[in-house]
Amino acid sequence: NNPPNKWKRVLLKISGEALAGDCTQNIDPKVTMSIAREVASVIKLGIEIAIVVGGGNIFRGASWEGCSGLDRSSADYIGMLATVMNAMFLQATMESIGIPTRVQTAFLMSEVAEPYIRRRAVRHLEKGRVVIFAAGTGNPFFTTDTAAALRCAEINAEVLLKATNVDGVYDEDPKCNANAHLLNTIDYHDVTSKDLSVMDMTAITLCQENDIPVVVFNLTKPGNIAKAIVGERVGTLISR
Ligand code: UDP
Repeated sequence: NNPPNKWKRVLLKISGEALAGDCTQNIDPKVTMSIAREVASVIKLGIEIAIVVGGGNIFRGASWEGCSGLDRSSADYIGMLATVMNAMFLQATMESIGIPTRVQTAFLMSEVAEPYIRRRAVRHLEKGRVVIFAAGTGNPFFTTDTAAALRCAEINAEVLLKATNVDGVYDEDPKCNANAHLLNTIDYHDVTSKDLSVMDMTAITLCQENDIPVVVFNLTKPGNIAKAIVGERVGTLISR
C-alpha cells in the first residue's frame, strides 16, 4: 500500500564532473555503481527514468577552442562524443545489476547505440527501461543541461532532476561567502535575474517556457538520487 508516486516520469541529468568522483581517471566506477544502485531501488516502484549525461569529465568544447586549430564547432562535437563514452559506461554498469537500459544518441553512431527517436524512447520508458540520452542536443554551442531540458520537454517528463556536487541553489556563491544560504525553493525569474549559476541561460529559459520544475541536488550524498526520483524533498526546487 505505497502512496502514489509523486512523479511518473523523470529526467535525471548527471554531469560529467559528477561521474569523475575523486578518481584520477575520467570515470569513477564507484560513482556509476552508486547511481545504478539508487536507480535500481526506485525503478521497481514503476517510475519511468530517463537520463542525460554530460561530458565535462572528458572534454569541454569551449576550453579547447583555438587549440591546435580546433574551431568551436569541432571542439563541441568532441565534447558530445565524450558524453557517449559516459553513457556507454553508465549503461554497462546499470545492466551489470539487471537494469534494462538503452542508449540513444543525438547523432548517428549506430554501431554502439540507437539513434534518438522520441517515440521509441517513450516506448522504452513505458516498458520499464532506463533510457540514456547521449551526444547532448547533437548541436555545437549547446550544453547537456540544455539537452536535458529539451529531452525533458519532448518526452513529457514531469521534472528535471539536476544532480550536482553541491547541495542546491544558494542565495550567493558559497565559495565566496561563507554565510550564503541554501534555498529550499526559488523561481525561474530569480535564478536568471540574480545570475545564480545553476544552469546556463538557454537551459533554464527552456524549463521556464515549458513550466518544467527543476530540482538541483547533491548526488554525492548517499540516497539523494533515489529521494529526488521519488519526489522527496531534497536540494532546491526551481519552479514558477
Ligand atoms: N556539447 C555540445 N552540444 C550539446 C551538449 C554538449 O556541443 O548539446 C559539448 C560541449 O562542448 C560541452 C561538452 O559537449 O562542453 C560536454 O557537455 P557539458 O559541458 O554540458 O557536460 P557537463 O558539464 O554536464 O559534464
